[in-house]
Amino acid sequence: MKCPVCNAEMVIENFGIEVYVCENGCKGIWFDQGELRKLDAKNEGLGSALEEALRSPRNNHGQRGQINCPRCSIPMHTHKYDKAKEVNVDECYNCGGFFLDSGELTEIRDNRMSDAEIDAYTDQMANSIPEYKQELKDIDAEKRRAEDIRGFIKMMTIGYWHRRF
Ligand SMILES: [Zn+2]
Ligand SMILES: [Zn+2]
Repeated sequence: MKCPVCNAEMVIENFGIEVYVCENGCKGIWFDQGELRKLDAKNEGLGSALEEALRSPRNNHGQRGQINCPRCSIPMHTHKYDKAKEVNVDECYNCGGFFLDSGELTEIRDNRMSDAEIDAYTDQMANSIPEYKQELKDIDAEKRRAEDIRGFIKMMTIGYWHRRF
């Protein structure tokens, strides 16, 4: 699978969940929706992968603009928020995948989120739904998505891994 940012071939890494890492390029990480659901305390190797991505200098532009989903080839939605403590991620509303790039990971390192902040950020992301999805609203699917997002945000915060080790 090609990286949606720099077009390098991404490498599959298995941390108990499978993620695609842009090892030879921008160090971005791709999460399929099904894999996000499996995230739990056993995925400790993923903490190291995130740490490694943190150490990698960002080599794509901060203002890279919209990217296309590497699975569906349609534009992804960037969750952008103003507060310094929040992290921006790209979500595909079609397949439910998430892309996280190295610059975004740097923000995670620099900002610890409290549980309340994680909740607020999760709500904000979960409530950001494009119109075409609103019309097809499926309550169960939305609930699952909110759970996935919450797990994902928690996993991204470095405090999560530090509590664990
Ligand atoms: Zn890349
Ligand atoms: Zn997609």
